[in-house]
Amino acid sequence: MSLIKTIEEWNEWFIRVGRNDHSLGFVPTMGFLHEGHLSLIRKAKEENDLVAVSIFVNPTQFAPGEDFENYPRDIERDYKLAMAAGADIVFHPDAKEMYGSNSNTVVEVGGEITQKLCGASRPTHFKGVTTVVTILFNIIGPDRAYFGQKDAQQGIIIQKMVRDLHQPVKVVMCPIVREEDGLAMSSRNVYLNTEERKQAICLSEALQLAEEYIASGAEDANRTETLKQIISQHIGRQSLATIDYVQILDGETLEEFACLEPGKTALAALAVRFGNTRLIDNKLLSIS
Ligand code: AMP
Repeated sequence: MSLIKTIEEWNEWFIRVGRNDHSLGFVPTMGFLHEGHLSLIRKAKEENDLVAVSIFVNPTQFAPGEDFENYPRDIERDYKLAMAAGADIVFHPDAKEMYGSNSNTVVEVGGEITQKLCGASRPTHFKGVTTVVTILFNIIGPDRAYFGQKDAQQGIIIQKMVRDLHQPVKVVMCPIVREEDGLAMSSRNVYLNTEERKQAICLSEALQLAEEYIASGAEDANRTETLKQIISQHIGRQSLATIDYVQILDGETLEEFACLEPGKTALAALAVRFGNTRLIDNKLLSIS
């Protein structure tokens, strides 16, 4: 069985497979796997001899009152899906294995990139993410680690952490995988009721409308305010949607700017609540 729960078992596997003679790709997840996660595992398999997947619902990235307890979990199904997609080993530790009984060290990326977008409504979230990802990097020691563009801000923060701390791993960002109607796949989509699920396609539709407006060549199509308005108005038409944020920022630094320029990639990012469910989506925009 390649489903392991302890660092000791990991170390045994590490020796048994002769890790040092192979390249190792790593896909960290919180489980309840869907095609988005599986695309990361497949990509890791293409680029590495061995692939490790972690499944750990990390308590430190949830604030009190968020969905840590209710977060969907199905380790048996996840294990099968991960192995079928190309994983060689699935690491499924518990919180004690990861944090011991008195861990009080955190890894925190400073500056605005962790404070805006999702950081504004979830102020402790990214500290939990960067801490757990560092712990996982230290245990697993991968050559490459695979993250989804779905969580664009998370990807930017992790890349910054890896650069700042000289962590010896290459971060590979992978495209967003969507349902047929455009909704970005997410483990949290199972929370949506039928009507919310129907309306949730407004996120990807709104981003698409912004892209189409840029392509139309309209005079104000380079203005971030105009594009934000197009996105917000479309989402605002849905009776069950409450916008948390709609932002268009520099795709690398997350700085604000007024107008898109050729050669500069903008990140259009949004978070929208349907009842208690908070969904995020984004699209990279550019003009020629
Ligand atoms: P999670 O289990 O939600 O923490 O996600 C684990 C990894 O899968 C993260 O790097 C996510 O960005 C990535 N991911 C989640 N959903 C998608 C998706 N729809 N397409 C691509 N990657 C995704």
